[in-house]
Amino acid sequence: MGKTALITGITGQDGAYLAQFLLERGVQVAGLVRRSASSDAALARLDWLGITQDVRLIDGDITDLSSCIRAVEQARPDEIYNLAAQSFVGASFQQPLLTANVTGLGCLNMLEATRIACPLARFYQPTSSEMFGKVQAPRQSESTPFYPRSPYGAAKLYAHWMTVNYRESHGVHASSGILFNHESPLRGIEFVTRKITDAVARIRLGKARHVLLGNLDAARDWGHARDYVQAMWLMLQQHQPADYVIATGRTTTIRQFCDMAFGYVGLDWREHVQVDAALFRPAEVNILLGDAALAKRVLGWSPMASLEQLVTEMVDADLKRHGGTYRNLAPA
Ligand code: NDP
Ligand code: GDP
Repeated sequence: MGKTALITGITGQDGAYLAQFLLERGVQVAGLVRRSASSDAALARLDWLGITQDVRLIDGDITDLSSCIRAVEQARPDEIYNLAAQSFVGASFQQPLLTANVTGLGCLNMLEATRIACPLARFYQPTSSEMFGKVQAPRQSESTPFYPRSPYGAAKLYAHWMTVNYRESHGVHASSGILFNHESPLRGIEFVTRKITDAVARIRLGKARHVLLGNLDAARDWGHARDYVQAMWLMLQQHQPADYVIATGRTTTIRQFCDMAFGYVGLDWREHVQVDAALFRPAEVNILLGDAALAKRVLGWSPMASLEQLVTEMVDADLKRHGGTYRNLAPA
């Protein structure tokens, strides 16, 4: 009998790539999906990857313990990936209680559902580099102290410690993956990378002239989501559960990202980007730079995609979405 995995957040960026990754390895995939009046739109990422028909969808919401338990009972999974979250830092300042409920307590609901209904299942919880916030070390590893700077970061910190707690108190094979930012053509359009690549495509195709951005000086350690879902899976293949930083070890400012994305289609970003003070955050995470040495040593994980490849893949996908293409004739 092959393995079965349950993914909460299967309709999100990582959920879709993880489902694809597991299906390619012969794993049966079930996904928790919350009710929506626009359920077709909710499946857009699974449709983009052409796998909607290959996964079993189970109705439920991670803020509702009873539906978490029912989903685990129905799927009887060997592996549980709790990817569901209110995942946008910006929105967490406007909706701190909802973020605490979904991103923090939602993790506890899924841990409880696992403990009650399927205690031998292996459990993966994505936590976040946002937990490092006001960074306490130039490169952040598993031993760097946390200092979250947003309701999202604080909610993830709660999820992180509950995951550790269920491992230590209840013997659940639970791992927390401290993932640094990871992007792809399936990234939500509210995140800065996708906002930029979408704007580049529209501007290149003559459908827009400008894009409004906030703090261009912030720097992020950006990887490709496809590489990061492999790291999640590797964590659950280990005999011992543990916590791992997953990052590329390279940090880039928003300004530099603009330069790369606009430059790829032959545009000068300075002519198209306008700074809007309203888009600055009440508290900023200025710079993130991860040290994934432990993941490399224990999991054998390293990122495959470079930032340059990520940027061009995202811009190309957005050009396609907007009905155009662009061939960069400059030498590689
Ligand atoms: P997305 O925002 O793309 O996806 C979030 C998913 O959670 C969606 O499927 C969404 O469903 C679902 N969801 C939200 N609320 C609920 C709820 N109450 N009940 C059930 N499902 C819900 O996030 P990503 O795929 O980018 O990230 C996956 C996980 O990894 C998240 O936990 C995120 O916080 C974390 N993470 C992500 C990083 C990144 O850079 N991408 C970095 C570090 C951590 P719907 O489609 O209905 O909205
Ligand atoms: P985050 O790292 O999870 O908050 O990912 P985001 O992509 O939302 O933001 C990354 C960085 O880009 C943060 O420092 C933001 O302040 C900065 N940024 C600058 N302009 C924008 C913008 O217009 N939208 C978003 N989302 N972020 C922006």
